[in-house]
Amino acid sequence: MPTTVPESVSLTGTGLHLAFGTNRVLRGVDIHVDAGKTVTVVGPSGSGKSTLLRVLNRLHEPDAGDILLDGRSVLKDNPDELRQRIGMVFQHFNLFPHKTVAENIALGPHKLKGLSKERARALALEQLDLVGLKHKADSRPGNLSGGQQQRVAIARALAMAPQVMFFDEATSALDPELVKGVLALMADLASGGMTMVVVTHEMGFARSVSDTVVFMDHGAVVETGAPEELFDAPKTERLQQFLSQVL
Ligand code: ADP
Ligand code: MG
Repeated sequence: MPTTVPESVSLTGTGLHLAFGTNRVLRGVDIHVDAGKTVTVVGPSGSGKSTLLRVLNRLHEPDAGDILLDGRSVLKDNPDELRQRIGMVFQHFNLFPHKTVAENIALGPHKLKGLSKERARALALEQLDLVGLKHKADSRPGNLSGGQQQRVAIARALAMAPQVMFFDEATSALDPELVKGVLALMADLASGGMTMVVVTHEMGFARSVSDTVVFMDHGAVVETGAPEELFDAPKTERLQQFLSQVL
């Protein structure tokens, strides 16, 4: 499936710290994704994976550290601008139930990018075609399966022509038989040259699609490397223990 990647850029977070009160959720996290590559972040629940994504797109401001897109710090930019450059897909798709599928996708390009309604709809149909759901353009999200809704959410993010895509447990809420289609779409995006950071419990995806795997625990990166290094030769006891629980 061809996908449109306007220009992929690298993303770097260095020395990222964030505390919620006394809870030090990120304790100096370094992460780097080369342009067009996929980094998968794995780790136990509560280790700070979602918070890391939210800091990287400045939904939370880090207490310390820097964020660079394409090698340039973005901390002084308008956060809204950064969020337009980074597409985000969550566990829960958050589609507007009273709008059609095409309207859900056209909304951002129309409201945030100033495309006319007609052009925004044409773009929505194009994106829907890429995720194999053009025939659902005028349906309500509630009439689609969870997997289809998640593909719409991905199309919605892609319609904003992001330079980087984040996925936070995008398949965790799906019935098992619907997971594959969404993972296949994510794999297509990765091979199409999108820069991606993927938080997932799908170890098969982490192993086969990602260029680099990051293992987090207690707000810190414990190990990072190529999938085969981390999965076949984990160096730390913490990663060995984590893998023995999830594999
Ligand atoms: P993960 O995604 O790895 O499961 P999270 O990033 O969601 O972990 O959470 C890491 C820690 O940060 C948890 O202790 C969680 O309670 C805390 N946390 C996350 N978001 C907030 C928030 N908005 N306010 C306070 N604490 C939070
Ligand atoms: Mg999470």
